[in-house]
Amino acid sequence: AKAEGRGTWRFFEPGMDAEILKRRQFEAELRRALIEEQFELHYQPLLAAEPQALVGFEALVRWRHPRRGLVQPGEFIPLAEEIGLIKSIGAWVLRKACADAAKWPSHIKIAVNLSPLQFMDGDPVRDVELALAASGLPAERLELEITESVLLQDNETTLSSLHRLHAMGVRISMDDFGTGYSSLSYLRRFPFDKIKIDRSFVHALAQDTGSIAIVRAVIGLGKALGMDVLAEGVETAEQLRILKLEGCDELQGYLFSRPQPVQDVAEMIARYAQG
Ligand code: C2E
Ligand code: CA
Ligand code: CA
Ligand code: CA
Repeated sequence: AKAEGRGTWRFFEPGMDAEILKRRQFEAELRRALIEEQFELHYQPLLAAEPQALVGFEALVRWRHPRRGLVQPGEFIPLAEEIGLIKSIGAWVLRKACADAAKWPSHIKIAVNLSPLQFMDGDPVRDVELALAASGLPAERLELEITESVLLQDNETTLSSLHRLHAMGVRISMDDFGTGYSSLSYLRRFPFDKIKIDRSFVHALAQDTGSIAIVRAVIGLGKALGMDVLAEGVETAEQLRILKLEGCDELQGYLFSRPQPVQDVAEMIARYAQG
């Protein structure tokens, strides 16, 4: 057994080296991706529920890797955060999303995700100001999506950045609502304009009454606090029916459209204009 243990160890060690090497290579490639602009944004429609109408798009970043093909954000955002690249990627996303949105009809908003790290060691107010100035997009058409983890450290600079952005006219949305743990106290501490109900609750809607109760409560909470409530991850007609019945303000999900490359945005706008 002892020999086997040693054997396993000796076998395992070079394996760990390979892991480290792979990671270093991935890091180097991610740095190059930024310089060579290998990132692209895909856009997913945000719809008003009643009457159903297109009101905006959420920008979702992808990495067009020269060999691996299209890499999803879940596979590189965590690493980008770890190695300090998210500030630069985040600034690029803001500039690109605002530049694209400036070409769309003026009633169409653009929602951009911000990483907590952009608040901790970046300057999100400056990034937003630069993106708006370069594109000419009015601040009122930009929505920033943040998760509760942004507010976790209850840091004064983070709060003041959010207040400054809000004062500029930028809208602030709380993303993935219900998945963290102190949601309610954060809602009180900061004037969010919108709550996005996490898709895990929407997913369970047709199966269990508990989820309906939660969704109903969040919609009531939003109304009481003067916030819009959007349901994420709407995939079925049954989920849509329940969400409309409960008075949800906005909808997003594969039922309407998957995120699409920027070339397809004009077609999506035209499709919804025809009703
Ligand atoms: P998120 O902000 O919650 O974005 C919504 C995710 O749900 C997207 O995945 C979207 O494609 C997916 N989705 C939309 N509708 C449906 C549906 O009906 N069913 C299901 N199952 N999924 C749906 P995606 O594009 O892979 O993005 C994953 C996460 O990566 C995002 O979650 C966000 O946290 C992060 N992310 C994406 N783009 C950026 C970015 O530019 N900056 C930062 N910091 N994070 C980003
Ligand atoms: Ca989001
Ligand atoms: Ca979300
Ligand atoms: Ca999410």
